[in-house]
Parts: sequence; structure tokens; C-alpha cells
Amino acid sequence: MGLFSLFFSKPHSAELTVTSGNGFHLRPVAKFVATAKQYQSDIQASFQGKNADAKGVNTLLSLSLEQGDTFTVRAKGKDAEEALKALSSLFHTLMQDDVEISVVEKEEMTYESKTISGEIIASGIAIGPATRYRETQSNRASTLSFEEAFEKSEAELTTLYSDNKEKSNADIYLAQKELLSSLKAEVTDLASLEKSIANASSQLMGTKLEAKIVDYKDILQRIKAHLGITSEMHFPEHPFILMADDLLPSQIETLSHTSVQAVILKETSLNSHTAILLRGAGLPSLIADYTPIEEDSRIILDAHAGLIVLEASEKELESARKRERADKEAQQSAFEKRFEAAETKTGKRIKVLANVTDPDSARTAKEEGAEGIGLLRTEFLFKKEQPSYEKQVAAYQAIFALFDEVTVRTLDVGGDKALPYITLIQEDNPFLGIRGVRLFNTHPEIIAEQLHAIFSAAQHSAVKIMFPMVSSVEEFMEAKAFAQNVAKEYEIDISNIHFGIMIEVPSVLFLLEDFNKVVDFYSIGTNDLTQYLFAIERTHATLKTNDLSPAVFDALALIVSKAEKPVSICGELAANTEAIPKLLEIGLETLSVSAKRIAETKKTIREQ
Ligand code: PEP
Ligand code: MG
Repeated sequence: MGLFSLFFSKPHSAELTVTSGNGFHLRPVAKFVATAKQYQSDIQASFQGKNADAKGVNTLLSLSLEQGDTFTVRAKGKDAEEALKALSSLFHTLMQDDVEISVVEKEEMTYESKTISGEIIASGIAIGPATRYRETQSNRASTLSFEEAFEKSEAELTTLYSDNKEKSNADIYLAQKELLSSLKAEVTDLASLEKSIANASSQLMGTKLEAKIVDYKDILQRIKAHLGITSEMHFPEHPFILMADDLLPSQIETLSHTSVQAVILKETSLNSHTAILLRGAGLPSLIADYTPIEEDSRIILDAHAGLIVLEASEKELESARKRERADKEAQQSAFEKRFEAAETKTGKRIKVLANVTDPDSARTAKEEGAEGIGLLRTEFLFKKEQPSYEKQVAAYQAIFALFDEVTVRTLDVGGDKALPYITLIQEDNPFLGIRGVRLFNTHPEIIAEQLHAIFSAAQHSAVKIMFPMVSSVEEFMEAKAFAQNVAKEYEIDISNIHFGIMIEVPSVLFLLEDFNKVVDFYSIGTNDLTQYLFAIERTHATLKTNDLSPAVFDALALIVSKAEKPVSICGELAANTEAIPKLLEIGLETLSVSAKRIAETKKTIREQ
């Protein structure tokens, strides 16, 4: 998780800084490329004197962008400006959403029997017979030409991506699709594809992009299957621990429907798509050299300690069985508990809501255990072109139907957030200029249409509307009056709607007594509040605020002590496991976090 840096240095060029510890890797790159391709302009990325076409995954990946690297994106063409705005905004989201893969700490454990040590992909424990991976190839005649098989594979991956968008692993399909498309120009038949992939793979060996090789193999297998060359995996009926050199990402789904208990892979890496999917499937797994393990011998795979125990004693087996049972119970309870309310040890109930951007992410939030939506960032709802009123209503209705509690933020454009169809005047300090609620004055038609759509969709729901970047009571009053006029014009009863503000501008802290008289609720946006407290732009390439500074917590404590209306927090700080104990101590009772952080946030609350 992190921030990224963007500032327009020249017309039609932007500087972006990679902030994720994973670097700018295949999945976010694929999304970036897919968006770049939607524009006609020529789009180039450059880093340390090296140029790359931003519409190809391989070219972009060849820049090897790591955390902290700042690269330049340049667009030339009719839609260059819009392309840059969309790409910059997307990059910001990609960096924020990229969950960093952390190395699992090994637990201390000693065994008397012989052990093999390995790296932990997914923790857990399993006991069973070790089984080597086996597959058989079959050939049947196919009516498809190579070109057709290629296109069918591309289409299949596109469908897999769009059908699974709500699942966290869907991006892997998009990544493979973009990888496949990038080969199109250079291959004409299966032999040239195999050669191309073999070349690319040998170049990747030993580099930090080595994990991509398995995706190449996967796309090759997909095309081969369409040409009649299929490989079938063979697994025992009884529970087993699988040993394989590597597995293809597409094989994990099949594997998880067998009696497999755990997996040992020799050649994968912790951030390969295979490893990501193994984690997702909850299969205890290790990277280890399994050569000394005899086929069918009973082993303990201790993926807490990162050990494989050969010829374990009865005592060791008994203790492993106990830990396996305890694990299953803990897993079961964590899984079941994501839908349960979060209560601290002292019995204090804390509400956990989600920050979402559209109906898809709202559905994901529901599956992840959100109790409502604490922040709907509407500027991400329609990123490419201005939506019709009808489209907006449909999107809001879809989201309102999912939860009883939804807080919609009116368009928050300006500063770090851009929309291609909203033109703002060029300013020296856009973070201190026209942004958030100030758009009510500069773009009244767009805001009026948005409010109209929200009101129409909310006719049967108790929806909360909040205005971003409010800095004075007058600003709030004007925005609320504007909204009321829209309702009046369209004769919509909005007595069910609550109006509140984001607390992002420090002036609000000193005006709370007056705000208490007019607002229905507050939501603290620590991302912006912190940047304004420290006078450090949240997207700055080198300067960083200290989000855990007493200045931040004192500001929050002041808000909670002065506010006489419900207060929630929706900035990134709400999901920070180090900050949560302090937030609860201050008295915050509603946290709004991104969908992927809900279970962990609830777990942290329960530990307080
Ligand atoms: C914030 O500023 O903390 C916030 C939640 O809003 P955004 O990150 O969308 O500006
Ligand atoms: Mg904000």
C-alpha cells in the first residue's frame, strides 16, 4: 500500500512514482496497458534514458520499475491529454490497491527426525503421502487454425477476466491476456510461438521477472489445447501432498478440487501467479527441493516452520495432527467471522465499512464482510467518458441495493484526481485550488446531474451524501442548498438523505462547534488531512508525511471530542493495524477501509 507521485511536468507528460513494494509488476502493468490501448495517441514511458511503448506489457515491464522509481509517461496525439489524465489516475489506484506480498515469518520448531527446509508460500500444516506430479499428453485433430486458436485464447482470457472481476485474482487473467497480445506481431504458428516463449523465458531466468515464465507456459498450454494438444493431470483419490517442479496458474483451480492437502514446489517464487493462487486457495505450500522425498512416503509439511519432516515419529505425527486441527478451526472461525460484528475484548462494538468505487467493488466488499459503504468514491465510477444520467442511476441503484448504509461522496476532482471530461483551469497549486466541493461553483451542471441521479436511485434507501474538501461552514451550506434545489427542481423527496462532510482540511477542526449545528455526520479523510497538516503533498515523490505522528492522532482526538454528530474515518489510516488501537482509544467507532482489509481490520479490533 502506498502513495504514488504525479505531477505534470510538461504538457502531455506526467511523472509517476512507483510506491508499492512489489514494484510495477505484471498485473498492474497489464491494467495500465489495457487502459493505454483505449487511446489513439502514441504513449511512451521512459526511465533512466530507456524508452518503452506503454501499450505493450513486455515493453513496459522491460523498464524494470521498482519501488521509489519515478518514470515519465508521454502522450502524443489528439486524445493525449485525456489519456494522461486517465493513466495517472489509474496508476494512483493501482499503487494504492497493490497488496504487498510479505515474507511469512517462520515459527520456531524443532523436530528429531530428518527435515528439509523451504520458503513458505502459504502457511498451514498437513500430513500425508508425498505424490509426484504426473501428466499425460494427448493429441487430437483440431479444426482450428493457429490464428483462430490464438484469438480464441485471447477471447477466453478476456472473458475469464470480466467474469471474475469481483474476485481478487481476476487480474491474473488480464495479465496473461496482455502477455499473449504482446506476442501477436511476432508469431505465425505454434513453432514460432514456442520459440518466442522459450526465448523470452530464457531471458527472464535469474531476473526479478522470472515469475512471469509460468504465465508464458500457461498461455502456451491454452493455445495448444485449442489446437488439440492437451495435457491431463493425474492425482490420487486419497488425500496427498503434491510435489511438483512448478504448476501453471490455471492448474491451481483444478488442483483445489482434488484431495490435495498441501503442495511443495521446487521452482516457483513467492510472487508468482501460481503462488498467489495457492495462497488464495488456502493450501499450505512451500518452495523446497523435494528430491530426497520418496514417492508415497508419509511426510509432515509444516508450513508454519517452513519444514518438511521425513520419517516422522509417532510423537511428532500426533503433535502435527493437533496443530492441523487447531489451524483448521482457526481458519474456519476467521472465515466465518468476517461477516460477524467486530467487538473489542472489552465488548465495544466497532462498525467496519468499506471504501468502494463502483458496483463491482461494492459486491466484493459485501463478500469480504463489509457492514456498509463508508465512502463511495464516485469520481472512479465513470473514468473514461461522461456518463448519461440513466447510467449513473443504474450504478447507484446497484450499489444501494447491496447495503442498508451507503455514504456517497460527490465528485472529488482536482489535486490528485482527474477526469478526462472535467477540465480545470491550470493552477500553480492545484491541491490548494479548485477541487472537491469547489466544483459546485465551477461545474454546476455535472454536479447537479450527479445529485439528481443519486436522489433518484436513493428513493427507497437511507443514503448519506458527503461533500469533499469542505473548509468552511458557508461552503457546506451552499453545497447543501444546491442539492436541495436540485431535489426541488425534479420534485424528489429527500427527507431520507443525510448530509455530511469529509474532514480533510485543518480549518474544519477549529469550526466544529458551528459545523455541529448544520451537518448530519462527519467522515475523516486522513489521506488529505495529513497532507494539509504537514504541508507535504500526498503524491510527492520524495517527501513523506508521518501518518503515525502524534500530530495526526491529536487532530483526530480533537475532532472526536468536539463533534456532536457521528464521526467515522475513511482514510488509509483506518486500516493501519498499528494505528487501529489508537483510533479506538481516541473513541472512533466506525472505520471504513478498502474491501481487502476488512477481515484483517475486524481481527485487529477483536484483539484490542
Ligand atoms: C482521504 O482524503 O483520506 C480520503 C479518504 O479521500 P481520498 O483518498 O479519496 O482523497
Ligand atoms: Mg481526500
